[in-house]
Amino acid sequence: MTDLSIPTDPPSTDSVKQPERVHLLDWTTEELASWLVGRGIPKFRAAQIQRWVYQRRAKRFDEMTDLPKDLRLLLDGHFDLFRTATAACQQAADGTEKLLLQLADGGRIECVLLRDGPRRSICVSSQVGCAMGCVFCASGLDGVERNLTRGEILEQMLKLQHLLEPDERLSHIVMMGMGEPLANLPRVLAALTMAKDSQFGLGISPRRITISTVGLPPAIDKLAASDAPYHLAISLHAPNDPLRNRLVPVNQGIGIQAILDAADRYFEKTKRRLTFEYVLLGGLNDSVQCARELVQLLRHRTAMLNVIPYNPVPGLPYLTPSPSAVLQFRRTLIDGGVNAMFRQRKGDEIQAACGQLRRLREREPQVVSIQSAKTS
Ligand code: SF4
Repeated sequence: MTDLSIPTDPPSTDSVKQPERVHLLDWTTEELASWLVGRGIPKFRAAQIQRWVYQRRAKRFDEMTDLPKDLRLLLDGHFDLFRTATAACQQAADGTEKLLLQLADGGRIECVLLRDGPRRSICVSSQVGCAMGCVFCASGLDGVERNLTRGEILEQMLKLQHLLEPDERLSHIVMMGMGEPLANLPRVLAALTMAKDSQFGLGISPRRITISTVGLPPAIDKLAASDAPYHLAISLHAPNDPLRNRLVPVNQGIGIQAILDAADRYFEKTKRRLTFEYVLLGGLNDSVQCARELVQLLRHRTAMLNVIPYNPVPGLPYLTPSPSAVLQFRRTLIDGGVNAMFRQRKGDEIQAACGQLRRLREREPQVVSIQSAKTS
């Protein structure tokens, strides 16, 4: 009897060389223009395509209706416009939305949209995981897997932009998601160049773009030398080396003084006011003594101190500070002349601290509801 069953395994394609597809978001406008010109297509099409992607929020090439159909097909055959899949999307009552994105190689990253009055700020990841090892952070628990590409960084910005209503615009970018941006500086800067490009890119003023770091002095110097006028935020989290060595282990090879010296050089070069970030952990770094030491470090600097009460991470033993500790901490800073701001924790109910959603989804996939995101 003849076997009519259909073979379940597809034929091997090992011997057939597939043309490599390019992530369009990895390319600059100039690179795209030169690729088009090489195929006899006018250069101005590159600008049109970029505007569709970054400004008109297109999700597919076939939405670019003022391009000739042949060109749309050519682009579709050669490029991936988006390479991530939305593994989870969560929305909090305060308007905060968080995406868990699955990369083409299976890695997972998080990015967040925060709505605050007229502001539409996004918090973007720079690496899969993180090597800095801050003890209270979900992102660093498993170390770093790899750096993100220029395209993967931009894709987060675009997918968050897709969550906006047509009359909403992105206003601020903070490189403060998963990873240490200064450990992936060339790709972060390449992505931000497109983010600030008002002709073809997202058109976000560099004054509204913040790069957050635990403080890597040689990379801070490189950033200052690159003449990129971005806002620098240094995550301090402790006022002295013994405590910081415990909370931010990478500090053991650096030391607070070297970081402050690099911060001062950045200020001298750019004249941009510095921001220091301080996650307030109950019973660990929230004492009046810590606040007094911070006063000594910061009162003579042109700097803002952002204090963020800790957002508890399931499985980690760190606590939110008590309201009275927060009050005393604040009073000591203000009496000491420090320009301090106490940030509200937004999006608590959606695990908005970096790395939390990714971790929760790995451990308890059924807990994270996958909503029909506006992005795919
Ligand atoms: S807080 Fe930031 S720098 Fe520290 S481990 Fe987490 S992602 Fe890395």
